[in-house]
Amino acid sequence: MELKTVFPNLTVMWSRWSEYTVVEDRGGAQYLVPSPNAVELTYNCAEHPKTLVAEALDLGRKLWMAGTDETRLCAGFAARNGLLGLEAEKGTCYADDPELPPFCRPLNTRDYGEDINLFQEEFMILYQHFQTTRGAISVSPQYSRVMDLSRLLNYRLTCGRTPQLVWEMRSMLSVIRLFYASMVTGDAVPLRVCKNCGKVYYNSHAKSEFCSARCRNYYNVKAFRSKEKTDHYKQDEGGQGG
Ligand SMILES: [Zn+2]
Repeated sequence: MELKTVFPNLTVMWSRWSEYTVVEDRGGAQYLVPSPNAVELTYNCAEHPKTLVAEALDLGRKLWMAGTDETRLCAGFAARNGLLGLEAEKGTCYADDPELPPFCRPLNTRDYGEDINLFQEEFMILYQHFQTTRGAISVSPQYSRVMDLSRLLNYRLTCGRTPQLVWEMRSMLSVIRLFYASMVTGDAVPLRVCKNCGKVYYNSHAKSEFCSARCRNYYNVKAFRSKEKTDHYKQDEGGQGG
């Protein structure tokens, strides 16, 4: 299903701040928030949804591999795209009260932040779902209950002689989930996994196997060297025999 026809001219204005950091509240919960000196940039996060989806999946992959720099990875994603808007579709009331935790503060402002564990979980759920579409057999029981990837979506019907049905997406998370859904249910899935480095990337070309020319070259050199080795070994064997 091509979503562009269902959601023409989709615009979801979103804020990304130049830098993010982690703060802890009194209860010990950790939130990803804009750094004190960060600069805000507002943009349409639905403009390049397919590369956004690939980037989200690749973050999920890296987090799934359980590295040691989850915070850096999440902060980097947020600086490039913004936070997810975890509660935004629910129409949660955000209040401008400094006593409240970051997730209750006005969306996309300097004071707004998201629980880093919930933030990470969204990417890992998405990646786990992607793994099942590629034939991965087991899904962590921790995630199986949320694997249907359901999501609230709001719409508005305008009044007048020619009423319009207007879809309202209130979060970047909705953009990611919806476009991901459209991409994995299409005939040719444009989401690929690099044969060399394992990165998830977007390429509509059916024969694409590598995320970059660098990975293609690296892989080919590696393949050539291992072939050379085998050939040498075979020659040696032949020599001994003769
Ligand atoms: Zn690669």
